[in-house]
Amino acid sequence: MRTLALRRIRRQCDHHRDLRPGMTIATTITEALVVVDLQNDFCPGGALPVRDGHAIVPLVNRLLEQAAVRVLTQDWHPVGHPSFAASHAGAAPGDRTIVGGVEQTLWPVHCVQGTPGAMFHPGLHADRADVVVRKGFRPEIDSYSAFFENDRTTPSGLDGYLRSRGVRGVAIVGLALDVCVAASAVDAARLGYATRVILAACRGIDVHGSLAAATGAMRSAGVVLDTGDEPW
Ligand SMILES: [Zn+2]
Repeated sequence: MRTLALRRIRRQCDHHRDLRPGMTIATTITEALVVVDLQNDFCPGGALPVRDGHAIVPLVNRLLEQAAVRVLTQDWHPVGHPSFAASHAGAAPGDRTIVGGVEQTLWPVHCVQGTPGAMFHPGLHADRADVVVRKGFRPEIDSYSAFFENDRTTPSGLDGYLRSRGVRGVAIVGLALDVCVAASAVDAARLGYATRVILAACRGIDVHGSLAAATGAMRSAGVVLDTGDEPW
């Protein structure tokens, strides 16, 4: 199984933009698994459910067992966060406005710090995580990506963590594929990680063509969309 994993990673590296013809690459790279926002509010029954979001839990647990470095992200908003439609007079979920100087889609109240909706799905083996990166906690701006606030410049600290652990590749799974997974993947690729999204371990919301747009953005950034049935 490990040989298969290395072969897959090596193939991915062949496409990496930092590699030039004739360059040799290390036969192994350390790949981190980043599990995005697998929380109750994003699963059926939650405040902002992704259809079948809970269905990825068994596969994500298997991936967590195999990963060299394990990262969970957790959407973690203060009460009254500006990403909530309820925080803007007359606004409804789905409306758009400006928050923190950037365009913001407004959502139902979700993942409020300390509430049951903000907890990880109870089936997720969250104890396997090496580190949990909380995001969206700043009262002035939202954060989709595991790496940056939505201003795309304020770091979460995850990049430094991964680099200090020698990580050069990132596999991303979780919810929602066309929002926080895609934003994390594009940023990971932009930061120079060999990046893949394991589609079988993601679910999307797909509103107003968001899935096609996110897929295009990930491909343009050099993200590998891994469609394999066997993720490793
Ligand atoms: Zn949120």
